[in-house]
Order: sequence, then structure tokens, then C-alpha cells
Amino acid sequence: MGKQISKENLKYYIKTFGCQMNERDSEKMAAALENKGFSPSLPQDADILMVNSCAVREKAEQKLYSFIGRLCLEKKKDAKLIVCGCVVQYKGKEILNRFKDVNAVLNTRRIEDFEQVLKDVLNGKRIMYIPSIMRNPNKILPHLKNRTGAFVDITYGCNNFCSYCIVPYTRGKEISREKEYIIKEIRMLTQGGVKEITLLGQNVNSYGKGLYKNYNFVDLLYDISKFDDIQRIRFVTSHPKDFSCSLILAIKEIDKVCKHIHLPVQSGSNRILELMRRKYTREEYIEKALLFKETTKGSITTDIIIGFPTETDYDFEQTMDMLRKIRFDFSFSFKYSPRPFTAAASTKERVPKETKEKRLEKFQNLQEKITWESNLRDVGKIFNVLVEGDAKRGALLTGRTTTNKIVNFSGEAKKGKIVKVVIQEAKKHSLQGNMEDSYGKFENQRCGFLRR
Ligand code: SF4
Repeated sequence: MGKQISKENLKYYIKTFGCQMNERDSEKMAAALENKGFSPSLPQDADILMVNSCAVREKAEQKLYSFIGRLCLEKKKDAKLIVCGCVVQYKGKEILNRFKDVNAVLNTRRIEDFEQVLKDVLNGKRIMYIPSIMRNPNKILPHLKNRTGAFVDITYGCNNFCSYCIVPYTRGKEISREKEYIIKEIRMLTQGGVKEITLLGQNVNSYGKGLYKNYNFVDLLYDISKFDDIQRIRFVTSHPKDFSCSLILAIKEIDKVCKHIHLPVQSGSNRILELMRRKYTREEYIEKALLFKETTKGSITTDIIIGFPTETDYDFEQTMDMLRKIRFDFSFSFKYSPRPFTAAASTKERVPKETKEKRLEKFQNLQEKITWESNLRDVGKIFNVLVEGDAKRGALLTGRTTTNKIVNFSGEAKKGKIVKVVIQEAKKHSLQGNMEDSYGKFENQRCGFLRR
């Protein structure tokens, strides 16, 4: 039996690497801890520390090991350290062997039983929890309280096996959650004051496959939109091959569905897309993306991999051309890095590091310019902004437009309200403005001054 942690003033610390699925998994664990009386703290004060890992890029994996090493030195002697997430799936044993202060490692499928894990760890056990399947994907796992927005899983895992991606090996086969449980979870969230739902899945567009014959992602969007208390619905991630016209129409028709899609293109070259096993062509992508923009007047963000094995200057120029044609509002662009188990990792013809760096810089420079121009075009416009909380710096409020742009603004409004904001300034990655009321007052005062 290990040393028991005092039941008073219990503290936890959690560090999350990676995507929104990991963010949601971390939230499930944080909420389970808060339900037991733990409160968040700095790592040096925590009784339970957790690191939620990401395996998508080699760099993130390297960062993980140095981060665990640092936590082992910083943490209180009796504090328990748990490492979870995608890296644990294939490096769990190694992590336990390498870091003697790590008490447990658990993969993403074990998070549904986090309370049991916690019990075992607090009882002094040192364990590896790596089940091959989720026992109950429908289970409604806890959420943190007092939030305006919430993530809700609709699918787990992925069946696509893109040749560069480790996710199908770390998160397993795609499973859709039954709609009744998703709806029940959203109902519970609305009772707790949530106004914005973000539906999560590696490929939300394939929701329902293998589960329903006549019910799909578009039907789910219509059903969720019936909740009076839900003001906004977002979703990530869409796969271009499954992104349909009926979804574009639903985004247009349902006011509550935000006019933004994250549609990862990865490359603009048909040859590279084929090697990546993405199952769409650049022409198909361009057609869908432009149709979405034209129909919904919404924004598109994307993911790009630069320097995939065998990528030539011509292939890269095709990606640049794609950026010029679609004018993504933002993109997450990275140099290719080989990942274990994936088909592309065995390709010998690698693009030299310097070439990848030069291409990435060129791509990011153009993207920055396009993002900036897109923000500049918003100056003077009025947007509906859902108030999410105080802005990071200064006393401004913060929220997002339906097109997913961050807006910092002055005015008085409660969290969870949708307010009108007049944009006055474009920043590199955000907009700045005044709430319409305060803008109106400001204008009146100025007119009054002029009249005097
Ligand atoms: S769709 Fe492709 S890139 Fe996305 S998670 Fe699945 S395998 Fe990975």
C-alpha cells in the first residue's frame, strides 16, 4: 500500500500536448478529479500530475520526454505522476522503465475508466493500462463546470490509414457514439449553462457509418440545432473525401452551425495526395472548398505537410498554388516527420531538412500575408461574437466570430451572450473592436463634442 495523499486541499496539474481530442480527454480527467475535490495548481504544488501526450509529430514526442523529466524533478516527493495519450500506446512500457517516478501509463481507451486508475494509483500501484478496445464508447464522461463552450466526442478513432498518420494505430478503429447518448450529453451540458458545442472526431463527416443506415452527420447537426439553449455548433475535423454538398447546405441553412470548416488538404499535388492515401484530388478539394465559401460566406482553415517523401519543387509549387486559390484563413503547417507503423516511414527518398525548412518558410510567409489581408477586410464590419471570457491581456472581453476569428473587444457583457462587435483594428491573428452599444455611445459623445 502506498503513502496516502491527505484528503484536504488536494491539487492536480495537467499538461496537454496535441489536438482537441486530447484536450477533451484531459478535461475528462480534470473534471473527474474536481468532482473528487481536487483543484488545479502549479506542478510543484500538485498531488496528482498528468501529462497527456501527442504522437502526431516526432518533435512532440521528444518534447514529451524532456517534459516528464522536468516534472519528476519539480514535483513533490509523494505526488503521483500519470502519463497518458497517444505515445503511451507504443511507448508505455519504455516510459515506465525510463522514469521511475511515473506511477501509471494509460492509453486513450482507458480514460473511460479513469476513476479506477486514480484509485489504483492512490493505493500505491504502479501500472500500465493499455486495453485494445474501449469498453463503452457511449459512456458520458464528466465535463468541467462553468464553461461557455464544450467539446463532445461523436466518433473515436479513425479507419483511414493515411500513409503518414499514426492516429489509427494509437486511437484505434473508428467507432461512432449512439446519437441518444450524444443528445443526452448535450442536454446535460445545456443545464450547466453551455452555449457552444464543438463536435469532435478524426473524421466527423463519417459519423454513423457502421451504426446507422439512415442517419448521418448532417442529421445529427439538425437534431442538435433543436436545443434552444445552444447558440452555436462547431465541429472538427472534416475529411475532404467525405465532405458533402448536403453538409455545405446544412451549414448554410442552420443558423447555429458556425460558418467555418477545418478541412485538412495536406498537399496541393495530386501525386503526393495519392502517396498520402488521401483519396481525393486537388481538383475535387478546390471544387468543394470554393463551393463552401460561395454558399456559406464562411472561412476555411487547413493542415499542410511540407516535404512529404519524394516531394519535388513542382509538387510544392502545387501546394503554394492551392494556397493562392483557396486563400485559407489560417493553416497549421509542419515539416513531414516519419512516424512509427506508418507506410510512408519506410520510404527512402526523403526531402533534405534544409529544403523542407525553405519550403515551409515560403508557405508560412504567404499564409501570414493572406491571414492578415483577411483580417484587414473585416475592419469596419459588425460581427456577432459569443462572449467567452476576459481577454488574455488588458481588460478587454474576448470571444469568436461564427467564422472562428478571435475578437478582443471593450464593452460590458456576460459570458455566454452573443453581442455585436464593431471591428476597429486587425491584428496578425485576431481582431479588435468595441461592442456595438459602447461604439454607439462613443459616436454620440464625439458628435456631442463636435456640436458644442
Ligand atoms: S484521416 Fe488520415 S490524417 Fe486524419 S486521423 Fe485519420 S489517418 Fe490520420
